[in-house]
This record gives sequence, structure tokens and C-alpha cells, in this order.
Amino acid sequence: MSRRAKHKIILIVWLITFFLTGFGVWGFQAGHLMVIGFFMASLVLYILAAFLMRCPKCRMPVLLRPWKIFGMELYTWSILTPEQCRHCGEMLR
Ligand SMILES: [Zn+2]
Repeated sequence: MSRRAKHKIILIVWLITFFLTGFGVWGFQAGHLMVIGFFMASLVLYILAAFLMRCPKCRMPVLLRPWKIFGMELYTWSILTPEQCRHCGEMLR
């Protein structure tokens, strides 16, 4: 299984967990705070993953997506890993 397929599964599992926790705890007094807490924890995990997952060849973070707009290089972060490194083209497995 490719890395991208694994990430899709992680993303779907995360969405299901997010909605299940959301529906499960919403009735509690601080239910919405738990949902926000869950969301924040996921965000921290995503940021950690984004900085730790690097291309084996050029050491660039694989989630960093460079865009060339009017000669300027802009960087955005993507949720899904690409098939290959956007920096050097190395296939990611
Ligand atoms: Zn690379």
C-alpha cells in the first residue's frame, strides 16, 4: 500500500472519530470544549507529522507544497502526502 493510500485511511478514520466524539460528547455540559480539544490535539499531531515527514533524498517536508505564481514561490501545507516529492521528484513510499 502506498503512503498516500495509508494517509487517506488515516484521514477517513480521523473524520469518523471526530464525528463520533462530536455526537457522543455534545450532550455533556462541556461537550463542545471536548470537541475543540480533540480538534486542537489533532492539529498539533498534524503539525508534528508535517515537520517530521521529510523526503529521504532532499530532506524537504513532503507536505510542503510549493506554488509558482507570477515568479513568486509560495508554500502551502497539504493534508495528503503526494505520490512523489514536490521538491526533487523522488517517489515516496
Ligand atoms: Zn525530495
